[in-house]
Amino acid sequence: MNPISQIVRATRPLYRKLSTSAPVAAAKPIPTTGMCFELNDEQQALQDLARKFTKEEIIPVAAQYDKTGEYPWPIVKKAWEVGLMNGHIPEHCGGLNMGVFDGCLVAEELAYGCTGIMTAMEASGLGQTPVIIAGNKEQQKKYLGRLIEEPLVAAYGVTEPGAGSDVAGIKTRAEKKGDEWILNGQKMWITNGGVANWYFVLARTNPDPKCPASKAFTGFIVEREWAGVTPGRKEQNMGQRASDTRGITFEDVRIPKENVLIGEGAGFKIAMGAFDKTRPPVGAGATGLARRALYEATKYSLERKTFGVPIAQHQAVAFMLADMAIGVETARLAWQKAAWLVDHGQKNTVLASVAKSHASDVANKAATDAVQIFGGNGFNTEYPVEKLMRDAKIYQIYEGTSQIQRLIISRELLTEAKQSAA
Ligand SMILES: Cc1cc2nc3c(=O)[nH]c(=O)nc-3n(C[C@H](O)[C@H](O)[C@H](O)COP(=O)(O)OP(=O)(O)OC[C@H]3O[C@@H](n4cnc5c(N)ncnc54)[C@H](O)[C@@H]3O)c2cc1C
Repeated sequence: MNPISQIVRATRPLYRKLSTSAPVAAAKPIPTTGMCFELNDEQQALQDLARKFTKEEIIPVAAQYDKTGEYPWPIVKKAWEVGLMNGHIPEHCGGLNMGVFDGCLVAEELAYGCTGIMTAMEASGLGQTPVIIAGNKEQQKKYLGRLIEEPLVAAYGVTEPGAGSDVAGIKTRAEKKGDEWILNGQKMWITNGGVANWYFVLARTNPDPKCPASKAFTGFIVEREWAGVTPGRKEQNMGQRASDTRGITFEDVRIPKENVLIGEGAGFKIAMGAFDKTRPPVGAGATGLARRALYEATKYSLERKTFGVPIAQHQAVAFMLADMAIGVETARLAWQKAAWLVDHGQKNTVLASVAKSHASDVANKAATDAVQIFGGNGFNTEYPVEKLMRDAKIYQIYEGTSQIQRLIISRELLTEAKQSAA
């Protein structure tokens, strides 16, 4: 038996037992014991498992996937086998009902190995989240259960060629015809677009331009194999090249009414609400990348000598390492708090934006500084840090740009300030 399977055999029953006795879908009661930064035994085992998987399965092949841009199916399948995917799926569908915090622990570890591969896995979680938060039992059983039975992935389809930040500007439309909806339009930049088994799709269902966003859009589950669904070519991106990003065209796609989430007009809230649970893992991923940059730069700075001493002894270099460490620690604290809040049933929208935007900036600075510390070697593909710099950039763009996160944070703080002044 391989070492990973051994760990899974040891940890999975433990984890399952924990999640059965203390389901996290219903918010956990707020502990009365005060702050605690220690992982419990099950979380520690999960983190160890993810760390070992990253070391043995991801790091050795990350450069190869970056070069070829192939979708990392063999790794996705192994991660599925050992229980590192789909942990948050509810128990009635065969899942472990894991909380966001535990998912983030896994995300940070996988991202340390390769954020392209991690995004390929995490994007399935993004596609599933609308079904987890808004799907009825039958929809969950059918579509989430399918991902437990087989190593398949899902995707989240909201962005379009003409609208990303401005979600209310999307043009894909669905019209009701009898018991069906007819979907037409085009999505863009959909992660897992070419490999997903099904998509969450947001479409406009009220054509009246005066209709508020909160009522104008509907969320659907759309199967990849349905007639009229056509993914485009794989996009050639700057970084995270193992991840599959595509446009998708919908042409007279017939959607049964059973595939509407909640009901007509509820889609915008579902699509935006998913981010409370999915932005903390994105922050955790960016933290993992920053941690990798710190590790590589520290190691190199102790080996490389200039002026007769290791470059780590030059204060200018040591301080860059210190800044990276400050970034990693604070980025981790931010995703931990954002995840903890949502797991305990508290509103975390602002903290999710803080976690996502801060970790994204930390990852970009850490990767850039790591390239600097490597000097000329940092600019070369033979060394690991140029990939980190290319991979880091997308964190400031997907799941809401850094500007949009600041919009969310500033709106909230200004509202509070106005209320307390009144
Ligand atoms: C690799 C990749 C993977 C992705 N995966 C997915 C996915 O799985 N599913 C999905 O639905 N989408 C996905 N996206 C889309 C992504 O979420 C959008 O690209 C992002 O939200 C930005 O939208 P946009 O590209 O249309 O840029 P725009 O909205 O056109 O923004 C352009 C610039 O203007 C700024 N800006 C816009 N509005 C404001 C404002 N009000 N105030 C201040 N600045 C503003 C933005 O911050 C940005 O800098 C992905 C994108 C990429 C590149």
